[in-house]
Amino acid sequence: MICGVCLKESPQLWQLTDLISVSFQAVGLCRHCQRKFHFLKEENVCPACCRRQKNKTCCTDCQKWRHFYPEKAPHEALLVYNEALASWMESYKFRGAYHLRFSFAQNIQQALSKLQDCVFVPIPLSPQRLQQRGFNQVTGLLAGAGLPYTELLVKSAETTPQSQRTRQERLQLPQVFQINPRITLSCQKVILIDDIYTTGTTLVQGQKALQQAGFQVVKTFSLAR
Ligand SMILES: [Zn+2]
Ligand SMILES: [Zn+2]
Repeated sequence: MICGVCLKESPQLWQLTDLISVSFQAVGLCRHCQRKFHFLKEENVCPACCRRQKNKTCCTDCQKWRHFYPEKAPHEALLVYNEALASWMESYKFRGAYHLRFSFAQNIQQALSKLQDCVFVPIPLSPQRLQQRGFNQVTGLLAGAGLPYTELLVKSAETTPQSQRTRQERLQLPQVFQINPRITLSCQKVILIDDIYTTGTTLVQGQKALQQAGFQVVKTFSLAR
């Protein structure tokens, strides 16, 4: 296996599950690089958004959401957004290191495969952003994990990136997501997926668009929180 982060080759101990998932074994994460990332553990997170904290009570962010949008679906995240994740994301998303879609493939596969009676819907990019980046980082992660997904949402015109807005501005944003008119689905249960959960605004906007079209967002999911 070649480590997608440090690009060193490391010997691999094969397990039974690897036989099913050989495709994402070629470019993974070596043990050294793995140690820089922190997986969120259920006992230390907010039960509504997976934010890392010292207890299991609902965090202040989610208490606000309960007030503004009580229907907000529970959120699950895999990793803590730490320095290593930020630098990984910079390479993957902004420097075109598309091979990094395999880094957490097994973890994503494990987390989502238990929800297979639902349709996986990625947060879309606008056409301009997609052309600029060359790929949608969220569909990349799902494809890397060998999971089927449906691009049920589309995003219209590009606006100022979320990261350049204040929290208040983000909460007041107009709807930017629409239902893809070319897709018909019989399943109404949806898991909405993004790469990072920061304020939850993007996922809430996606959830609102889906709910208005009659879909039920069972859960939202992100690689990092
Ligand atoms: Zn490495
Ligand atoms: Zn929370």
